Amino acid sequence: MITFESLDLFPPLKRALKDQDYQRPTPIQAKTIPPAIVGQDVLGCAQTGTGKTAAYALPILDYLGKEKPRSKAKRPVTLVMAPTRELAIQISESFRRYGKHMRIRQALVYGGVAQKDQVRTLSRGVDVLIATPGRLLDLINQRHIDLGRIDIFVLDEADRMLDMGFMPDLEKIISMLPEERQSLFFSATLPSKIRQLAAKLLFNPVSIDVTPKTSISVKGIEQTVKIVERSDKLASLQEILFSGTVDRAIVFTRTKHGANGLTKKLDRIGVPATAIHGNKTQNARQKALDLFRRKRVSVLVATDVAARGIDIAGVTHVINYDMPVDPESYVHRIGRTGRAGEKGTAVSFCTTEERGELRAIEKLIGQKIPVENPEADPSFDRETRSPKKSRHSNRAKQSFQERRAKRQRKSKKASRRKATVG
Ligand code: AMP
Repeated sequence: MITFESLDLFPPLKRALKDQDYQRPTPIQAKTIPPAIVGQDVLGCAQTGTGKTAAYALPILDYLGKEKPRSKAKRPVTLVMAPTRELAIQISESFRRYGKHMRIRQALVYGGVAQKDQVRTLSRGVDVLIATPGRLLDLINQRHIDLGRIDIFVLDEADRMLDMGFMPDLEKIISMLPEERQSLFFSATLPSKIRQLAAKLLFNPVSIDVTPKTSISVKGIEQTVKIVERSDKLASLQEILFSGTVDRAIVFTRTKHGANGLTKKLDRIGVPATAIHGNKTQNARQKALDLFRRKRVSVLVATDVAARGIDIAGVTHVINYDMPVDPESYVHRIGRTGRAGEKGTAVSFCTTEERGELRAIEKLIGQKIPVENPEADPSFDRETRSPKKSRHSNRAKQSFQERRAKRQRKSKKASRRKATVG
């Protein structure tokens, strides 16, 4: 087992880790730090709470401590990008804790506040710049920051950046980085857009995945599927919400637009609800979460990535108003209930069009989710759960076989004829 002592880390860092009373590296740290401190690119699949901040902060601090690169005014040496102000602040605090025995100059850059102090700090030269995309681009455009000197680039919570609409900003920022640099890329999930971005950004990366095994996280949650028509979804949701069993529920929709629309509809039928998704400002999202946490509303309508990391006790129900497109999101979604050994219920609405998604989820979690109302569609089980066989393709196969048999018969006849002529 790797210990911090056995890693070739800059000694003042080891001292800081002792001060923190960290006994040993977490799995993401054990896998990321060794390749990162020798300069390799890393693609890490990990969620918040796994210790991923130290997984990149320690290699950065190690580099700064050992190589002592000289930062110049407005030209930071390392850059960490985070989607939200809260995360950026947390990251900055971590750098401070791990770098407490070193002299590190850091700047924290995010929007929603005056830029004066941020600009002043940057003008003195910084070793570590921690930034959210919008403000960073703003300051670059105003020539307060030049990224031409970056040696190490970290992208944290890349999937959340995608969900929050930061991709165009991010692509502009990435295009300004020097070719020769080290990149460390972290994301809780790897949808195809994120994989494409990683492929563009990373050079021959070490791939690390510490996503918890799915079967563990769904334990203790009662899961069912409800067969619905698209037009019945609201009525079905209403039925659950008014059943008297729901204390607090998170309802997932596929799109931000869907989340807003559903929140309005719920308000209209007398269910106080609030929405959380990537189009909302950080303050609005925090406000929505507070309302839900303090039970001012009993329903939180959410999209996938915006809901990640929500850890609110007492969520009795998770309702998948729309099936998740990415099967792994199902596990993240239903994991919002049944926390800390409480009981939880997860109901997924499934229309005819969403059966493919259900099949993918069942394959991932390795179990069939019981159907609440099999009578609603007697063909459901047969068509959803049996291997997909379309009659059309069967017919195509048959006729192809027939054609082949015919051809074989023909060629046999021809060769027999040849033989008799010969
Ligand atoms: P993170 O995923 O980076 O937000 O870290 C989650 C929490 O784990 C933070 O409170 C860290 O201080 C803590 N932590 C990180 N690494 C370790 C470690 N090796 N041992 C104990 N705690 C840690």
